[in-house]
Amino acid sequence: MGVNARVAVVTGSSSGIGKAIASRLSHEGWLVVLNGYRTEEAGHALAASLPGAAYVDADVSTSDGAHRLVDAATAGFGRLDALVNNAGIARQIPHRDLDAVDDDFWDRVMSVNLKGPWNLAKAARPHLVETRGQIINNASLAGLTAAGSSIPYAISKAGVIHMTKLLARALGPEIRVNAVAPGYIDTPLTHDWQPLRESIEANSPARRLGAPDDVAEVVHGLLTMSYVTGAVIPVDGGLHLL
Ligand code: NAD
Repeated sequence: MGVNARVAVVTGSSSGIGKAIASRLSHEGWLVVLNGYRTEEAGHALAASLPGAAYVDADVSTSDGAHRLVDAATAGFGRLDALVNNAGIARQIPHRDLDAVDDDFWDRVMSVNLKGPWNLAKAARPHLVETRGQIINNASLAGLTAAGSSIPYAISKAGVIHMTKLLARALGPEIRVNAVAPGYIDTPLTHDWQPLRESIEANSPARRLGAPDDVAEVVHGLLTMSYVTGAVIPVDGGLHLL
């Protein structure tokens, strides 16, 4: 790791997809600020295993949390080259059961999944302008199709996709902004989501579940693609075709 190593903030990286993204970037030589919310033990353990990494427990739905994360990068490492907005929450609620969506869930899913990336983009912007850096948002196939674990979740992710396009226009040419849209990825969040798993293994063009590393590979790829901005890349083994 050189003194000029690039620096990334990866939100929600104490688990699942974010953990795979942070590990991949670290292995590619990046310095990574890890994050989770109330996941100090897992976060610090991961930080200890990745050279130079730091862990910051912070709630991305708050402006204070967003600033603490960005400050950890700029004060700790002197720069910020990439922001990966990955933190998110979900719960399985049948779409027809509108009454099962209480106000608390609606508000929380919007705060974490939609306002979180906005908070981080605002806080990171001046530093990303300096490095001509980039933002990658982890959206979801649920934001592209009329499906997903719940209606509020799908709406939050559709919002993330639109935010990606709006910010790509607003923040260019200094900052590129792209999104990945994973289908079903096997993580602690989704591990017991039956019978979805069997259906995907049987019917998706790739005939397998997604792994966190499948998403990390695309995030890393986007970081190397200098002429791509405002793009939304499904990472779903072809599920969007069904
Ligand atoms: P996960 O539950 O394994 O990890 C979620 C991470 O987000 C954890 O580190 C958690 O601490 C963090 N987090 C939650 N609330 C937070 C908050 N308020 N502030 C900061 N961090 C917070 O879940 P995952 O499956 O790895 O999902 C990661 C992202 O990928 C989410 O945005 C999710 O919507 C998206 N996604 C997942 C799938 C899938 O199939 N697993 C599919 C599409 C999109």
